[in-house]
Amino acid sequence: MSVKAYGAYAGDKPLEPMEITRRAPGPHDVQIEIAFCGICHSDLHQVRAEWAGTRFPCVPGHEIVGWVSAVGAHVTGFQPGDLVGVGCIVDSCKHCEDCASGLENYCDGMVGTYNFPTPDAPGWTLGGYSQQIVVHERYVLRVRHAEEQLAAVAPLLCAGITTWSPLRHWNAGPGKKVGVVGIGGLGHMGIKLAHAMGAHVVAFTTSESKREAAMALGADEVVVSRNAGEMTAHAKSFDLIVNTVAAPHDLDAFLVLLKRDGAMVLVGAPATPHPSPGVFNLITKRRTLAGSMIGGIPETQKMLDFCAEHGIVADIELVRANEINTAYERMLKSDVKYRFVIDNATLAA
Ligand code: NAP
Ligand code: ZN
Repeated sequence: MSVKAYGAYAGDKPLEPMEITRRAPGPHDVQIEIAFCGICHSDLHQVRAEWAGTRFPCVPGHEIVGWVSAVGAHVTGFQPGDLVGVGCIVDSCKHCEDCASGLENYCDGMVGTYNFPTPDAPGWTLGGYSQQIVVHERYVLRVRHAEEQLAAVAPLLCAGITTWSPLRHWNAGPGKKVGVVGIGGLGHMGIKLAHAMGAHVVAFTTSESKREAAMALGADEVVVSRNAGEMTAHAKSFDLIVNTVAAPHDLDAFLVLLKRDGAMVLVGAPATPHPSPGVFNLITKRRTLAGSMIGGIPETQKMLDFCAEHGIVADIELVRANEINTAYERMLKSDVKYRFVIDNATLAA
């Protein structure tokens, strides 16, 4: 099946309309008509070849929501018309320890939603900036939000789960002081989720202009991280800091804010490394510096259900397909509150 998509033919070229093909659904496949797809900073890193190994043409997009349009003969969990989502994973080995634990995101055979090898044409996966996608049922999530909220649900599929997973793993909740660094797509979801989990949430931003908006998202306090005085006021006080920043920066400035046994989890994935942090800032308080990558399928479903129950969606700005390149430029200037989402119906225009 040939479908319309938006992608790039090279790292230094803008994204443009293209036609791609999707396989006919196999026995365990779900075919999805994509209604909306979020724009993640990872899309930009990958399509501009800031990360190694981009295959072109590259069609990004891994915050996918839409309706089931067809199912394979052996699919029992979904039927045409169902509201569903697809995140960053479309396949994995299905039998390793990670897959058995529902942590397909750490499977060595994980197949990402774009830029990963696949038997389908053209030989690598093509993502959600497209009209349809075909995915094995194991990697399809059920969306229980109201249909009117669908566009704002899309960012939960990456920004939501990528912050949810470390918040849960490091036990964010009542009595815990949790920092979220960078109020972009990931960060604004981190604030909402940590707040809903009952933690005391401190948002760190480089943008003075986001101070009030961060409180509205659910932060209890906001720190402008360029202001040294505001930073020192929080020294040795955090249980957990989730750092979403997409650019290299001084990690020590945040490590010293952790209390004994506190952890800072890096989820931001800049194209060039952070300056190496000072060892003494780790050993003197038995602090942990960790990383976390998206989340497994069962925990993604849990996160979606939690969000549906608590009325949580992303704050979004809806764009047309022909506005994707402009959206990228604005994202680089932190000029989005807080996630661009593509209206995939505009791919047909
Ligand atoms: P985003 O919307 O661009 O947000 C990043 C935020 O970081 C910005 O809004 C800005 O917040 C802050 N920031 C940007 N440049 C900065 C700088 N030079 N110094 C300090 N702060 C800066 O990006 P996103 O979509 O949330 O993604 C963030 C990062 O996470 C990207 O690198 C992405 O590839 C990565 N990611 C990782 C995973 C994973 O599994 N680990 C999953 C998805 C995305 P303020 O204006 O508030 O300072
Ligand atoms: Zn993403």
